[in-house]
This record gives sequence, C-alpha cells and structure tokens, in this order.
Amino acid sequence: MSTSDPSTEHSRDNFIYDIIDEDLEEGTYGDRVVTRFPPEPNGYLHIGHAKSIVLNFGIKHDYADRADTQCHLRFDDTNPKTESPEYVESIKDAVQWLGYDWEEHEYYASDYFEQFYRYAVKLIKQGDAYVDSLSEEEIREYRGTVDEPGTPSPYRDRSVEENLDLFRRMKAGAFDDGEHVLRAKIDMSSPHMIMRDPLLFRIMHASHYRRGDEWCIYPMYDYAHPLEDAIEDITHSLCTLEFDNNRRVYDWVMEHCLEDDDIPSRPRQYEFNRLNLGYTVMSKTKLRHLIEEDLVGGWDDPRLPTISGLRRRGVPPSAIRAFCRKVGVTRSQSRVQIGHFEHALRDDLNPTAPRVMAVLDPLKVTVTNWDEDEVDWIDANHWPRDIDKDETRPVPFTREFYIERDDFREDPPEDFIRLAPGREVRLRHAYFFTCEEVVRDADGTVTELRGTIDPDTRSGTAPDGRSPDGTLHWVSATHGIPFEARLYDRLFEVPDPDAREDHFTEFLNPNSLDIRQGILEPAAQELDADERVQFERQGYFWPDPEDSRPDALVYNQIVPLRDTWGEDEDGLSEAELERRRREKEQRKEKQRRRSLEGKTDPVEYLDDHQRDRFDRYSGPVGLSRDDAAAIAGDDTLATFFDEARDHYDAPEPLANWIVNVLLGALKTRTLEDLPFGPDAFAALVRLVDTDEITSRGADEVFDVLLEDGGAPGAIVEERGLRQVDDTEALADVIADVIADHPDEAARYRDGKEGLIGFFMGQVMQATSGSANPELARELLRKELEGSA
Ligand code: ATP
Ligand code: MG
Repeated sequence: MSTSDPSTEHSRDNFIYDIIDEDLEEGTYGDRVVTRFPPEPNGYLHIGHAKSIVLNFGIKHDYADRADTQCHLRFDDTNPKTESPEYVESIKDAVQWLGYDWEEHEYYASDYFEQFYRYAVKLIKQGDAYVDSLSEEEIREYRGTVDEPGTPSPYRDRSVEENLDLFRRMKAGAFDDGEHVLRAKIDMSSPHMIMRDPLLFRIMHASHYRRGDEWCIYPMYDYAHPLEDAIEDITHSLCTLEFDNNRRVYDWVMEHCLEDDDIPSRPRQYEFNRLNLGYTVMSKTKLRHLIEEDLVGGWDDPRLPTISGLRRRGVPPSAIRAFCRKVGVTRSQSRVQIGHFEHALRDDLNPTAPRVMAVLDPLKVTVTNWDEDEVDWIDANHWPRDIDKDETRPVPFTREFYIERDDFREDPPEDFIRLAPGREVRLRHAYFFTCEEVVRDADGTVTELRGTIDPDTRSGTAPDGRSPDGTLHWVSATHGIPFEARLYDRLFEVPDPDAREDHFTEFLNPNSLDIRQGILEPAAQELDADERVQFERQGYFWPDPEDSRPDALVYNQIVPLRDTWGEDEDGLSEAELERRRREKEQRKEKQRRRSLEGKTDPVEYLDDHQRDRFDRYSGPVGLSRDDAAAIAGDDTLATFFDEARDHYDAPEPLANWIVNVLLGALKTRTLEDLPFGPDAFAALVRLVDTDEITSRGADEVFDVLLEDGGAPGAIVEERGLRQVDDTEALADVIADVIADHPDEAARYRDGKEGLIGFFMGQVMQATSGSANPELARELLRKELEGSA
C-alpha cells in the first residue's frame, strides 16, 4: 500500500552528505557507511522522527551504489520506567510503513547492559570513574554554574578498590535508588558544564520490559549512546542539534572506554536541525499527555503529528518522505510552516487521487423541468484535463440534487459568481441551471431552491455561446450516498503552544474537528476502500480505516485544496479555465502596456488568492500599496509576516523591515534557511520601533541573527546596544567630544555648520552607535552654539 519506492528517491546534497563523501574519498571507514535510527520506545513516533528516519535510511539508499551501506533500527531502551513492547511494535510499524527496511539490523541497547557494565569497570580501574554518594540535589549544587566552576565531590578521590567494591554492590542491589551514582572523572571546572563529571550509571529498582529484574543499575544516555554506536560499528551517528554539547562526552567515552583495536570504525557524531512544526506539539511526553488525558482520540488521532495519526488521516508515506527531504538538513534551527507540509501533500495527491463530487453542507435543489423518475447517466472523467488519464464514471443527474449551502447567496456581493436568485450557473459535468425560486421554512431559513435547466447545455456549452461564470459541484439527492466527513484543523490555536507560560493544553483549538453529514456521488462506492480521492473544490479525502463501513461511510479530510476559487485549478470546468486564461492574458497585456509606459503596478502580477491578501493588507491592515503587494505576492513571505504580527502587531514597521531589509538578505538564501523565525524578527522590529535601539544597532542585531540566530533582546544586552537617550549621559559624551576637538568646534562657530556631521560621527563612535540621533544632534547644536 505504500506509494512508490523510497530507494528511488534522492536527497539534495546537505552538509552530512559532504562529510560522507569526504570519508569515502579518504577511506576513513573503508567503503562502509553505517547509520542508525535510535528511538527510545517510550511513545509513538511523530513527523520529527520521520525526518531522522528519512535522513538515516535515505543515506543507506543514496550511497548504495558507491558504498557498503546499512541502517540499523536500534531501540535505545535504557530507561525501564517509560518503555514498553507496545511502543517497540508501534515504532517498527511506523518505520516499515514509511517504506524502510532495516533487514536483520534490529538492535536493543538493553542487550548491551553487560558491556556497559564491563566498560564502566574498566573506567574505574583506569581512575576515570568514581562512585559518588552525594544526593541528586547536592550533585546539582556542586556542579556550579556557567560562570562559576564546580566543586569536587568529597567522594571524588575514593580509591579504585573502594569504587570497584561499591559499584559491584550497586549492581548487586545492595543500595536504594539514589544512594550512589557512578560518575566520569573529567573536570569539575570545565567551561563546559556537561564535562563536569557527568553521570554514567544510576540505581533504579524497576522492571525492564526486556530484562525483567536482572538489572537495578541503568546507564545514562551520554554514556550508553557512544558505546551502542561503537558496538554496532556505526560510522556516522546523526542526532539533533541540542546534542551539540554532548559530543564532548561522546568523544571522551570513545577515547577512554575503547582500545584502538576494539573499534575498527570510530563513529563520529554529527548534529542536524530538528524538524519543528507550528500549531502542534512534537515531544512524545506531551503527546502522551494528550492521550492519557483523553484530549484526543488516541495515538492515531488524525489531528496529531504522529506517524500513526497521519497514516490514519490518509497521508501517503511518499508525501512524508518528500516533505522530509525537502525541509532539508542544516545546522540552523527554525520552524517549518504547516503550509509547506500541506503543499507536499497536495503535490503527492494531485496526480494520484481521482476526482469525485461530494456535498458537505447540503442544500436541496429541484429542477422543475425534469421528470421525477428520469435519470441521465453522464459519463464524467475522474481526472482534470491537465492529468493525462481518462478513466470515467457514470454520474446520475436527477430532478432533485444537492449543492453546498455556501454556493448560494440571496444577496450576492458583486464578485460572487455562484448561485443567486435569477442567476445561471454551470453544474459540473452536467447542465446550466437557473435559480427561479427560493423556498424557506417558518424561521426564514432557505430549505430548497427551485429552477430549470437548459436541456441544450449537457455538453457544458450552450448553442448560443453564452457561458455562466460559476461552476458548482452537486450530487443527486435520490442516488447520492449519505456519509460523514471529518474535517481537521490545527490542533492548537497558537504556533508555539509549548513555549508559553500557561500549560500547553490551554491552547487546544476547540474546533480542530468538524464533523459534517454530507452526500457523496454513488461512484465513490466503486473505488477501493483505501483509495484517496479529491472531492472537487473541497480537498483530498479517504475513508477512515477504523470507522468507515460500506453502509456507513466516514471520510477523513487529508488536506483541503489550497483555495477553492484561487490558484488551484483542479476540477474546474473548461469554460471556467478559459475565463481564467482570458483574465490572465488581460493582466499580462496590461502589465506589458504599463511597462512600455515605464510604469509597473506590482498588483497586476498577483493571482486571485494573492489579490485577496493584497486587499486585506492594503485595506484593514493599513500597509502602503507597494509594501502590501510585495508581501502579498509571496506566499511564504506573507505567512512570515502574519506570524510576525502574532508576536508584535505593528504591521507598518514590520512590513518596512521585511521589504527594506529582509528581502535584501533573501537574495542569496530562502526564508526556510534563515536561522531565525518570525518571532525573533518581530522582537527585533519591536526594539527599533520602541526606540530601545537605534537603526544602526538594529542593523548589527540583524547581522547577528542572520549569522547565528538567537534572541534579539539578549543580543542587544550582550553587545551593549541599548539606545542612549538619557539626556544627561549623552550631554557628558558630547561635552567630551567637543573638548577633544577644539579646532573643529571653533570652525563650526565661524559658520562651518557642515561640521555637525563630523561631530555626530564622533558621538556615534563614542557610544558605539547607541545614541539617539535626534537627541544627539539637538544637544550637539546647543552645546556648540551655547559654549561660544
Ligand atoms: P521526543 O522528545 O519527541 O521523544 P526524542 O529525541 O527524545 O524526542 P528519540 O526516541 O530519542 O526521541 O528520537 C529518536 C531519534 O529521532 C533521535 O535521533 C532524535 O534526534 C530524532 N528526532 C526526534 N525528534 C526529532 C525532530 N523533531 N526532528 C528531527 N529528528 C528528531
Ligand atoms: Mg526522548
């Protein structure tokens, strides 16, 4: 069922590929390239893990023709309290479903417990490890802070014999949890906190799902992970950026545990950026909380970013792989917009999902010039014209049918091209229909439309050449199948639910699930039970694998169409496409004429969807016409702008910075490659906008952001960029500057007023650019003239 073959898909080069290329060239590991995916079985996998899976297994496939490649599936099961066989099974299932095969390389860290112990004994004998008996809290206190070195534990100098004896008894179960730990003896005053005698083993009397009660000491990640890699002869150990610092311990363990001949290949750790998506949470712990508190339906709830949730929703594995390859592997952290994921889904589904018609919010229509029991079976193509496939299905046209309630307006706005009293529309694959009568119930709610079709328009065109502007989808009331549609929206209302003060569950979106009772064309029943389809003008759907039955169909929305009347041309009638082509031509022609006249209007370049956005930006949001067009015309930039406004709602300065500064920086890179997101950008604009920094200071902050990312507030503090606009402080600086340049001051007073620029430069230099320029200029003038 998995679509297409992952071994035929290839990644763009990334820095890890460069490293592997180099290692192959130099023969660092001979011709071996061995990676691993090392999940802890403490929950179900999510789309972030998919990125790691696609990277690690992708390398196995991408290098298969040049090297001896393998990718291990290793369960990093060293923490008995949270792990279970259920999670092991779910992880294997997810990796397989994604299309990958670890062959015979299925490993468990819990199989290495004996080796972990043996290497620890070796470290103790070498004088490189000791048993510490401080409490957890004392250990933390003794460790010091970033600014202060740590204090050695009073137990640090225990003899080798005493350490060996204590460690053996730890293993034998002679002590309670927390009484002792084994620590590496490295350096308590290291500038790297992680090197201040990291813990190697702790006592934990807990039953392990694979080892039972055999062990009551368990190794820590930083100790176990490098050994696991070494034991399995891994060559490239890839993990996410937050383990950057841990690499020091990784290398230390390698060097101190293993003799040279122990390790035919000395694995190295490389870190890459995590995948972060907005409006969701990704940690297994947080996901588990949602499930345990019954806030979602289970690990496979289609609203979750879990692999099982996405799978149940209907997302094809090939789309996840394509997305993971596309987001890229770099060393700069940023959040990927959901829009990119949805885009990958549509790209995958568009050529593979046959089109059918379904009405999700039905309004009945009666054709008064059509007989009650007459059925016209129309042969309709499952595919739009630009997809070169021609399977068809019979669509029944009958006296009564349903349209979307939303496709009818009694008082239509001017640009509404769908149905209204007296209006004619084209029914997709069928006739032109004119609405002649609106039927209401006692409350005034519209319950039915009545009207007539033109029998000469069955082919989609009229003999007299007239062509309605709108085309509607519809489903026969007598032949259609009632069904349930489940539409999913973002699970959270904010982009960063886990970065807020309140508990993340406070931000759950109460409308993330929208259930509709709709009606579906009968041909849908002829499709395979797991076939993904496009409901024309709505989105991509598939039958829910758990709840859908032949006599009670339930469809999940996989992803909506971008915009039913915007860029997405799937499923539109020929005439509608023609109308759009005409409009486009006209736009182009106008553009051409304007550029001949030397005037270009950026708005002309926008498509319908971007045009709506432009109207909003230049209208209620209040941007200038040029700024609105520049931002509205670029979908990712617009999302960036909208998200930045969530953090600092000052549209004008934000737009200004986007157009004048950010766009310049984007000439050589893309938004996704930037090491900062809209939140940091908004924070920077706020600092300038509220006069906390000068524009010169802001430029400096922006350069730092471009280079390393980070938090603008912290960058300002670190570099002392806060604006000096305290009059007294500035007056002192100015007095000094004038005193230091008596000749220039005299010449200024003689009428050389241009020298004000020279003095401004001096003041700026003296304040590292942090003086408020207006204030500085005013004070300078006063001071120069006053002290004449
Ligand atoms: P979580 O907190 O979500 O459980 P984890 O990192 O603790 O994440 P592991 O089971 O240890 O989960 O992860 C297995 C592998 O997947 C690790 O190599 C880890 O770096 C990688 N991984 C986890 N989350 C992401 C992510 N968001 N993007 C990329 N890789 C990830
Ligand atoms: Mg974890």
